[in-house]
Amino acid sequence: MSAPTSTLGSNEGTLFIVAAPSGAGKSTLVNALLEREPEISLSTSHTTRPPRSGEQYGRHYYFVERSEFEREVLEGIFLEHAQVHGNFYGTSRRTVQDLLQHGRDVLLEIDWQGAAQVRQKKPDCVSVFILPPSRAELERRLRGRGSDSEEVIERRLRNSRGEIAHAHEFDYIIVNDRFEDALDSLQAIVRAVRQRSVLQCQRHESLIHELLTES
Ligand code: GDP
Ligand code: ADP
Ligand code: 5GP
Repeated sequence: MSAPTSTLGSNEGTLFIVAAPSGAGKSTLVNALLEREPEISLSTSHTTRPPRSGEQYGRHYYFVERSEFEREVLEGIFLEHAQVHGNFYGTSRRTVQDLLQHGRDVLLEIDWQGAAQVRQKKPDCVSVFILPPSRAELERRLRGRGSDSEEVIERRLRNSRGEIAHAHEFDYIIVNDRFEDALDSLQAIVRAVRQRSVLQCQRHESLIHELLTES
């Protein structure tokens, strides 16, 4: 395993992780956040899950066969990978690294197992867990989305307890009740992280120097 790397004080971007039980509203919140904060890059995962109607290769996911995914695992291309709801999902190390090194902030929409792996490798990442306001509402949203079969919905609902049990491992928790409030909270987290003094001292080195210089 590679040693944990610290990006604090470097010019690297920040790595954000957003996780949630299926149907809590994670993707809807993340897409709305990216409209407000377009300089964040969303990582596109590899998955063995079949595409839903309307999902595009390379935009929502890189949809791959199980055999190809297993080959990619052996080749070590993933920063993290996990089995979620019976399918495999993984984040490409190369893409994330390249973006971060160019100073871009990167957001991963991944499950709690992947988040735990990323925390080990990148302890400076900032992780957020999204909760639904109730179990009934989670079920309503999963069904209302209209994208999954009854069997898939039931499996995801069954798995949601095991996922929510890991919420405390995350830096921040947001309850997605009123959508606009949850979105404001997510944006507030991103903005607060960007104002951290370790980052600001570097960004504004010449300003601080000038302000300290006697005329
Ligand atoms: P949705 O989140 O209900 O829209 O369902 P998806 O099928 O898109 O995602 C299923 C689960 O896989 C979610 O918990 C995602 O966060 C997770 N997931 C997606 N991509 C990745 C990834 O690259 N790595 C990991 N570890 N989990 C992922
Ligand atoms: P996830 O990515 O967590 O699986 P989605 O973003 O696909 O969840 O959201 C699931 C469904 O819930 C979608 O139909 C979405 O429009 C809806 N939704 C998301 N947030 C809210 C909210 N705050 N109130 C009502 N419906 C919501
Ligand atoms: P869905 O199949 O509904 O798109 O996603 C199901 C779950 O898989 C979600 O919780 C999602 O966050 C997670 N997921 C998606 N991509 C990845 C990934 O690359 N890595 C991990 N660990 N989980 C992922």
